[in-house]
Amino acid sequence: MAKSYVKEARRKKVASKRQRIEPIIDRLAVEHADAAIALTFRNPLELLVSVMLSAQTTDVNVNRVTEKLFVKYRKPEDYLAVPVEELERDIFATGFYRQKAKALRGTMEQLITQHDGQVPESFDDLLKLPGVARKTANVVSAERGNAQGIVVDTHVRRLSQRLGLSRQEDPVKIERDLMRIVPRGDWARFPHLLIWHGRRICDARRPHCEDCPLAADLCPSSLL
Ligand code: SF4
Repeated sequence: MAKSYVKEARRKKVASKRQRIEPIIDRLAVEHADAAIALTFRNPLELLVSVMLSAQTTDVNVNRVTEKLFVKYRKPEDYLAVPVEELERDIFATGFYRQKAKALRGTMEQLITQHDGQVPESFDDLLKLPGVARKTANVVSAERGNAQGIVVDTHVRRLSQRLGLSRQEDPVKIERDLMRIVPRGDWARFPHLLIWHGRRICDARRPHCEDCPLAADLCPSSLL
């Protein structure tokens, strides 16, 4: 069970989450003007593969692997043209390589047989691809300008709890809470803002509240 940060949000009295959400987004957007997906890709297929490989590993690690991978595997058929062991070797460094190779091959097969070799636009079609869970479908849709939900990773979960935006533990329930208050036009960038804020300032073990633009009035977990 992941650590909970819900109780930290009792330290300080702040306005309601509906009143705070827009200033939170505005201040984070100034602080992290460069916040964007850290995966490197050139087309929807590379985006989908990168996100599938990013489970349980860092984006830096995925980029290191895909730099070579995408030279060799350019279309869905390429993932099925090699023995599965070869694909496993090529993605080995991202971890969980057996499950990931299986998911990739299943997905490629479905892209070829049901979507003319293209990555589908529809969120529901993305969810039907083998090994594509809600988080992956959310990231892919958001990057294609069609956000259907809000990506909740470990940083988004922690920050949502610390900022008092959700008292839930389960990422699906946290996402539901966020979708109620974050303006729809911000669904794609909001998780990037929290992820970068989590990496740079609101560290899991030691949040740097002294450097945080939300500390004075917008964060109920503030140590100031
Ligand atoms: S770093 Fe900012 S967001 Fe994190 S707990 Fe401190 S004040 Fe809150």
